[in-house]
Amino acid sequence: MSDTLQQIKDKLDIVEFLRPYLTLSPAGKNFKANCPFHKEKTPSFIVSPDRQIWHCFGCNIGGDVVGFAMRYENLEFVEALKLLAEKAGIDFQRTGSSDQKKFNVLYEINNAAKEFFRNDLALSEAAWQYLIGRGLKKETIEEFEIGFAPHSYDALTKHLLKIGYSILDIERAGLIFKTDRGTYMDRFRNRIMFPLYNHFGKAIGFTGRVMPGETADVGKYVNSPETPIFNKSKLLFGFYKSKNAIRETKTAVLMEGQMDFIMSWQDGVKNLAATSGTALTVEHLKTLKRAADTLILSFDQDEAGRAATERTIDLAEACDFSVRVISGSPNLKDPADIAKEQPGLMAALINQAQPAMQYYLEKFSVGGKFSNTSEAKQNVRNVLGKIKNIYSPVEKSQWIKEVSASSGIEEKYLLEEMEALSVPEIGNVIGESANPEERPELSKKELIVQRIVSLVMAKKELYGQSTPALADLPADYKEILVHFGTGAGNLPPKVQYLFDNLLLRSSLNIGLKEDAMKHELSELLYRLKIENLKEKRQQLQLSILKAEQQKDDRALMEVLSEFDRVSKEIQNLKQ
Ligand code: ZN
Repeated sequence: MSDTLQQIKDKLDIVEFLRPYLTLSPAGKNFKANCPFHKEKTPSFIVSPDRQIWHCFGCNIGGDVVGFAMRYENLEFVEALKLLAEKAGIDFQRTGSSDQKKFNVLYEINNAAKEFFRNDLALSEAAWQYLIGRGLKKETIEEFEIGFAPHSYDALTKHLLKIGYSILDIERAGLIFKTDRGTYMDRFRNRIMFPLYNHFGKAIGFTGRVMPGETADVGKYVNSPETPIFNKSKLLFGFYKSKNAIRETKTAVLMEGQMDFIMSWQDGVKNLAATSGTALTVEHLKTLKRAADTLILSFDQDEAGRAATERTIDLAEACDFSVRVISGSPNLKDPADIAKEQPGLMAALINQAQPAMQYYLEKFSVGGKFSNTSEAKQNVRNVLGKIKNIYSPVEKSQWIKEVSASSGIEEKYLLEEMEALSVPEIGNVIGESANPEERPELSKKELIVQRIVSLVMAKKELYGQSTPALADLPADYKEILVHFGTGAGNLPPKVQYLFDNLLLRSSLNIGLKEDAMKHELSELLYRLKIENLKEKRQQLQLSILKAEQQKDDRALMEVLSEFDRVSKEIQNLKQ
């Protein structure tokens, strides 16, 4: 593995690799850009060609080319390696270590199973008739490589063993499982098989639908379990086919099931997305966010579908998507039915989709005659809760206006009411790291100190001018600045790491006007002084408690007067 990684790094320059993804502008030796992982107006994303790394000082995350590809394309490590190997022109298979081979065999087995199921579909008249009856054309069945798993406990197992795969690998690929009696059994039996592809078009698992008229032994739909190559909460069905259309329109039409996707695709709608056997997750939204800013929801017209619609609206609005909802068509249950019964209607419905807030306004019947009943008040409150959840302030204020106009309540009262509402925190999920350890919380003082040091590092002249006041910096940072100013001494590894990070960060300040920098620096030094005094006051508070406990009156008097002095100093500074 490390071999391939090294080869990739040798061949792919990080700056050239990132260029298509970001708008890079030079910042000294480095480059800066607006971070693709969080919303921002001024760049805090730095790329260092020297060290071949990137770092965002807003999200406090960073890494190499692989780390970027994993995060940006939402890939697992090995998938990211594959993508990069392709770009670098390295033969991934050949360089394979035993680890890679373990992954590759899972792709191979899923692919072999897909072919097995396709062959079997040709042999099963009933399965074929079912698909045609649902409205699928032969070309579509072939395009999506739909298949059939025979009514057998071990037909697939036998086939895969015969062509040379080991029983353990077949199990790892999720296609068989061990029964209580210790024997292996095919996971999918007597089911229509929909292959699931990763975002590069490789089969990585399946959804099996029970044959009509059969009693489902485990459920109408059965999915492959999660495996090293299949992560349900990230995978969008058919995304590898639809992602270009989504990018072009900046819009994704989100559906609940594979049949909805495939039938709508056949009906000419291409910018589609569907989850595979799970509810929509933030991970799915992150994937979509890279390609789209608008989501159009087209879920089933039943109670479960409406619940899913509302859950998805709330999640997507909080992730700064503009969300619209398709109102559906009377008597037609889901998009698959619509596409079958009335070809062309789906596209029209998508064009007429209404904004999600409109959906809520109608649901809570805000508008028309507003009577001052408690039910009406509760309805207004419900809508305000939904508006509060919207990420964009602009959109928020538009909807407040709308509610005001239709309810007759003045905007200022609506705003007050909205502020008072507590909404479960869904927001700000995009760009949030899944691993909290990646984003250590910095104290206020730490933030001030890091900003000071990064300013001084961006403009060396500032170092000489502010040296006296730099006495207020914590020891590590003082050491860093001395090292920076004189180049003398070796830093301990932990401080060296901080030094490197700050040096990288300082390139964000390159290009700032000297006057502005001086002004900011003196402001920061002033704030640092106050933070230091506050810290001292806190320590004194502890000493006071201790002296009181020990009934040491003399010590208590001393600490109290010191406490007084520090408090006054803070007050004087603040004036
Ligand atoms: Zn960021």
